Amino acid sequence: MEIVQCKTVAAHVPFDNIFTVINISAMNYAASEAFARQMDSEDPLKTMRDRFHFPQHNDLPVIYFCGNSLGLQPKAAAAAIAIELDSWRNLAVGGYFGGTNPWLYYQQYCSGALAKIVGAKPEEITVMNALTVNLHLMMLSFYRPNGKRLKIIMEAGAFPSDQYAIETQVRHYGLEPDLAIVEIAPRNGEKILRTEDILDCIATHADELALVMMGGMNYYTGQLFDMAAITKAGHEAGAMVGWDLAHVVGNVPLQLHNIEADFAVWCSYKYLNAGPGAVGGVFVHERHAANINFPRLGGWWGNDEKTRFKMEKGFVPKPEASGWCQSTSQVFNTVCLKASLEIFEEAGIDNLRKKSILLTGYLEYLLKALDNISYEIITPQHPAERGTQLSLFFHRDGRLIHDKMIDSGIIVDYREPGVIRVAPAPLYCSFSDVFRFYTILRDQF
Ligand SMILES: *Cc1c(COP(=O)(O)O)cnc(C)c1O
Repeated sequence: MEIVQCKTVAAHVPFDNIFTVINISAMNYAASEAFARQMDSEDPLKTMRDRFHFPQHNDLPVIYFCGNSLGLQPKAAAAAIAIELDSWRNLAVGGYFGGTNPWLYYQQYCSGALAKIVGAKPEEITVMNALTVNLHLMMLSFYRPNGKRLKIIMEAGAFPSDQYAIETQVRHYGLEPDLAIVEIAPRNGEKILRTEDILDCIATHADELALVMMGGMNYYTGQLFDMAAITKAGHEAGAMVGWDLAHVVGNVPLQLHNIEADFAVWCSYKYLNAGPGAVGGVFVHERHAANINFPRLGGWWGNDEKTRFKMEKGFVPKPEASGWCQSTSQVFNTVCLKASLEIFEEAGIDNLRKKSILLTGYLEYLLKALDNISYEIITPQHPAERGTQLSLFFHRDGRLIHDKMIDSGIIVDYREPGVIRVAPAPLYCSFSDVFRFYTILRDQF
C-alpha cells in the first residue's frame, strides 16, 4: 500500500490533555475493493468482528453502522448469562457469596475495564440503574442551586431525555426553566458549536452558574466537545461540571480523572455493546467520591459492605463512586457488559480509536466521491472533534433515503430533522463494509 503523506492527527493543542495523542500515517485512500480488502488484511483488530452476531439480509451480514444506537451482541453474552443462571439454579441465595462471580460485588466487576476506557481510577467508577436515572441522581448531588447561583448551562438541541431531566430538576427546586437553563446554540447558519462560544457563555454567566451539564458528543451532529477546556472554564466560574458520555464511551478514549470532571454518566448499550436497557455507568471524581459527607440519596448497596447486613441505623457510604449505589446489583443487566468489556480489554481503546480515525476517514472520503445524492456532512472534519459517527444532513427526502438504505441491508438511523447517522464502530465494522456501503449508494440510489 502506498503511503504518500504523513501527518499527525489529534495533536490539536486544546485536545492534548484529553486524548491519547495518536500518530497515524494519513492513508492515500482509494475507492476500490482491492484497497478496502488490503486495509482489512492489515487491520490488527480484524478478528474482533468474529466475536459478534450480525443480523442477516439476503443471506449476507448487514452493513451495521448503528452501533451508536445499539451495539451488536457479543457471541460471549449467552455463555456469560448461562454462568449466572447456573449460580442462581445451583446456589440460589448463596450466589451472592459463592459461584463464579459472587453477586455481592457484581457492580465492581466492570470498574477496571471502564476505568481504562474513560481514563479514571477504578474507585471513581460504578455501574447502576440506567443513564437518565443516574443523570438525575448525580444532579441531586452536584446541582445544588443556592441564592443567585442557580443556573445550568447545557447545549441547545441536547438529547431529549437530558433536556427533560434538566428541565424537571430545575422545576423540582421551584425554579423556572427559562431563567435557570442557559442553552448554547450554534451561530446563525452554523450547525456545530464553537468552543470559544461555549467558554464565553460560561464566563458571562459565571456569577450565577451552578452546573455545566453537557453531552461529551452531540448525538445529532456527532460533534465531540473540548471537554478539558470546558471543564476548566466551568471550574474557574465556580461551577460543577458534569458530562453525559452516551456517545463517547467506547468510541473515543477519555481522561476524566485528569481533566477533573466532577461527574459523568453514560449508557452501556451503544458503543459498549451491553444490550438493550443494560446497566448505566457513573464516574465520580475521587475528590468527591472519597468524601462520605458529600450529599446524595442513599440506599443499602452504597453502604459499606461490612455494616450493610447488620441492618443498623445510619447510612455510611463507601468512600468511592459505588457509594452512590442504592439497590442490589442488577446481575442480569450487567452480565453482558462484563462480557463485552472483556473484548474491549483485548482490543484496547487506543487501538480502537486509531482504527476508528482511519475507518471514518475512509467513509468520509468515499461519501465525498458520490455525486448522485445531495447531502451535507455536518460532523466536524477534524478527527479530534468527532468519533466514529458522521451525520449526513439531507435538505429533502432524508427519511426516504434512510428507508431505502434499510431495504438494501444497511442499518443506520434517522434523526429529525433530516439527518442520517452513519457510525462504523471499529470493533466489528470493516473497510470492506464501508466500501460496500459506498457501492450501494453509488449504484442503487
Ligand atoms: C442514548 C442517550 C440517552 C438514553 O438514556 P436512557 O436513560 O438510557 O434511556 C440519554 N442521553 C443521551 C445523550 C443519549 O445519547
